[in-house]
Amino acid sequence: MALANFFDTAIEFLKGVGPQRAVLLQKELKIFSFGDLIQHYPFRYEDRTKFYSIAEVDDAMPYVQVKGKFTDFEIIGARNKRRLIGYFSDGKSDMEMVWFQRIDWVIHKIKPGIEYVAFGKPTRFGKKINIAHPEIEPVTENNLKGNTFQPVYPISEKLRARYIDSKQIAKLQVELFRVAEAHIRETLPDNLLKQQHLINKKEALKNIHFPKTQELLLAAQQRLKFEELFYIQLRLIKMKLVRQDKFKGQVFNDTNILTKFYKEHLPFDLTEAQKRVIREIYIDMKSGKQMSRLLQGDVGSGKTIVAFICLLLVIGGEAQGALMAPTEILAQQHYANLKKYADLMGITIALLTGSVKKSKRQPIHEQLQKGELKILIGTHALIEEEVKFKKLGLAIIDEQHRFGVAQRSKLWQKNAEVYPHVLVMTATPIPRTLAMTLYGDLEISTIDELPKGRKPIQTTHQFDSSRLKVNGFIRSQIELGRQVYVVYPLIDESEKLDLKHLMDGYESMSRAFPDVPISIVHGQMKPQAKDFEMARFVKGETKIMVATTVIEVGVDVPNASVMIIENAERFGLSQLHQLRGRVGRGAEQSYCILMTSYKLGADSKTRLETMVKTNNGFEIAETDLKLRGPGDLMGTQQSGALDLLIADLSKDGKLLQRAREAANEILINDPELKKMENALIRTQIESVKKTAVNWSRIS
Ligand code: ADP
Ligand code: MG
Repeated sequence: MALANFFDTAIEFLKGVGPQRAVLLQKELKIFSFGDLIQHYPFRYEDRTKFYSIAEVDDAMPYVQVKGKFTDFEIIGARNKRRLIGYFSDGKSDMEMVWFQRIDWVIHKIKPGIEYVAFGKPTRFGKKINIAHPEIEPVTENNLKGNTFQPVYPISEKLRARYIDSKQIAKLQVELFRVAEAHIRETLPDNLLKQQHLINKKEALKNIHFPKTQELLLAAQQRLKFEELFYIQLRLIKMKLVRQDKFKGQVFNDTNILTKFYKEHLPFDLTEAQKRVIREIYIDMKSGKQMSRLLQGDVGSGKTIVAFICLLLVIGGEAQGALMAPTEILAQQHYANLKKYADLMGITIALLTGSVKKSKRQPIHEQLQKGELKILIGTHALIEEEVKFKKLGLAIIDEQHRFGVAQRSKLWQKNAEVYPHVLVMTATPIPRTLAMTLYGDLEISTIDELPKGRKPIQTTHQFDSSRLKVNGFIRSQIELGRQVYVVYPLIDESEKLDLKHLMDGYESMSRAFPDVPISIVHGQMKPQAKDFEMARFVKGETKIMVATTVIEVGVDVPNASVMIIENAERFGLSQLHQLRGRVGRGAEQSYCILMTSYKLGADSKTRLETMVKTNNGFEIAETDLKLRGPGDLMGTQQSGALDLLIADLSKDGKLLQRAREAANEILINDPELKKMENALIRTQIESVKKTAVNWSRIS
């Protein structure tokens, strides 16, 4: 059978693979075809370009290559403590090579007096430097040249056990290049390569696997990263343009209700940033095109009122609004917050989540369909079939990186003819590179300013041993009339141990503050009990709120001025920031105290230091991305948009920006990619659509 594309050839047909290894490569590394193998890039390289003298070697070096002779061997220890030491000298100084395994084989294979090249990671053992399990090769003309970077490929334990290691993969790559090199075709147009100073595809692929020099390796990485980011951005921007072009939007421009709200009920002056994003959103909703916009802003920047004001425009136009949140608790909190404003304006609003009883759903469904119900808040229960709006004008989606492109579009499709306007909201800022990728098909509005008069929250990190001091501080704040949150990690609501910690914490607080009324709230309480406790705290009847992260979002008690976070090392950065955002909402100076034990990992330390250092959610989001990598950020795992082969969103921000600008320029000038010069791009998009998993997962 003739293959349309040589790189679709099944991997088993590569010399040196065969049916059995093919199965392993498929299962372990998802390598099915020649194309998959050539895109199985090394994750690092061993620098074999330089020989070190033994005197230079120290344990801070990653991998080193030295040349010399073994002067002696010695076996030390008995049984499973047995190790072989080879004394290795380059004529001037000497070091030790150590083996814990395969000792007999090594003794048999390696002889004193012969010149070898040894390669490995130096470590310090007392005063001496050694390399454990070095790679040893007799000196040859070839390895003496010392002009290679050896690729190191991702490999699994199973593969290693079956003798397929990084070296084997490298050999397969050599074989692949032998048969495939002539088939490699360019995938970026010439003018773009020139404009971006990128090397061609063949050179890039060769040098990503077998870099000749450090410079060529860099050039290869740049080229392949750019290409990867470019096609993702091209696809996203194209989605955006198609939507703007094809999807009509409802036109809303009746601002009477709005004027009434501004005149009679606006509780405070809006910040300039709030006004700006409202303008941006209004322009969209008046434009006749469907709005798809991301609204982001730091914790406490006032997104709720912006959402409400946007809903007003739609309601003024005889249409309805919906807000979808990722969890039940979040939905409840949005409902509570928006209801305050809706009630002032006499606007009907309801909550629809999985736990709303059938008998209560029925009337909601009916009123919704008749158009009597104006605002519906809920979880993904909103996208179920039987939820029908009379006329949905605006869908607000509170994402927290959880829904992704695919689910979002379900809500749009609630109106058969004209899609509703879509506003995606996130609870905390998202790093720029993530926003461009996860939300690259949306316009972005950013509230980059907090309401006036907010004092930055003072954050400190305390060890559990300072508990008494912390309690003293809590008391002084309560005496000033303030209220205090004490939050315990309860990642999984069913975790018994976490619940116990919370209960213990509650008890010790009760003992330390016998005269102070204390509330407790956690996920296993009945909703009424929870609401009751919350309400007591909101009214100021209780002074301390011991709780799990259920209070993470939305709770608004301006009088609360202290946030104590227990086991702070167990929280992610953006969650810590979100929690801290529960205080500092009033005019008083607020405090956040991060409690931990002495034992802390390096990443935990960085997280805590970051929290102490800055209140800026945008800065925190960037640090979070660097620490965790995009794949680990909350909820992004499933999105697939971040399954990048070579680019790294935490490091390649500049390249991403360039790729996006390039893609944008091309599409602005040639939206359908019909011009000759873009023919290559069109073919590439079409061929990728047919084969690669990546695209189907982000769209
Ligand atoms: P978030 O963006 O975190 O959702 P909220 O919408 O909950 O923030 O607003 C945080 C607090 O700030 C609320 O108490 C809200 O009433 C108040 N707020 C919002 N905008 C302003 C403003 N322009 N001036 C004063 N207070 C404001
Ligand atoms: Mg909010």
